[in-house]
Amino acid sequence: MSKCGVSMVVEPGSTEITKTGAWRTFVPVVDHDECIKCSLCEIFCPDSCMHQVDGNFVPDLEYCKGCGICAHECPRGAIEMVLEEK
Ligand code: SF4
Ligand code: SF4
Repeated sequence: MSKCGVSMVVEPGSTEITKTGAWRTFVPVVDHDECIKCSLCEIFCPDSCMHQVDGNFVPDLEYCKGCGICAHECPRGAIEMVLEEK
């Protein structure tokens, strides 16, 4: 219990029901020719939404909140954060 007397238990998997993609302003765009399939974008993504699909890394846009961490961590500079048209 915290000092203020409030305790809270969050069930595992709560982020799965929170579609953080609605928060996004910038969207990661992967240059598949530059990508060396190192998986660092997948490992560092705080929402676990970067995955390999048909051999290429792509963000799941239902959950990608556009934080840009994947682009920052990519050793090849293969991810560009682009202002998303809504
Ligand atoms: S971090 Fe960059 S090079 Fe590595 S898998 Fe992701 S996009 Fe490809
Ligand atoms: S922008 Fe953020 S949330 Fe979206 S794929 Fe990259 S690291 Fe994940």
